[in-house]
Amino acid sequence: MTNQPQTHWYAPTDESRSPLEQVADALRYKAEQEAMAVYLKDGETPAACVARNRADIDRLMTMLAREKRRSEHLERLLRNLHALVRGECPSLLNEDSGGDAALDGLIRDALAPPCPFCAAGDGPHSLAHEGQP
Ligand SMILES: [Zn+2]
Repeated sequence: MTNQPQTHWYAPTDESRSPLEQVADALRYKAEQEAMAVYLKDGETPAACVARNRADIDRLMTMLAREKRRSEHLERLLRNLHALVRGECPSLLNEDSGGDAALDGLIRDALAPPCPFCAAGDGPHSLAHEGQP
């Protein structure tokens, strides 16, 4: 079975509505069914489609929560490691003493709080976001 538009539509009838309103109801029902058809898998009912999508969302939310916990754990470890290196052996992050200042910059950027302007969708990050002209 494919998702071709059906040729027969059985709109819910409401005898309290005028014949003209019932025709309008049927046309609206048909339009809703056709709009829904693009989301349905072959042979799937709208209720099964909704259940499938809810299950997908549940799985994604579980994955998101797991990854958020993992990300927060890794961030804590990196923050501690960075502080340890800066405290005990800062030359490792200093170009003048043969260290890797670029890595230090990347770690600082990664640990910095997210830019509120970028988070609000105001385009790519710019110096103006940092209050600089
Ligand atoms: Zn920004």
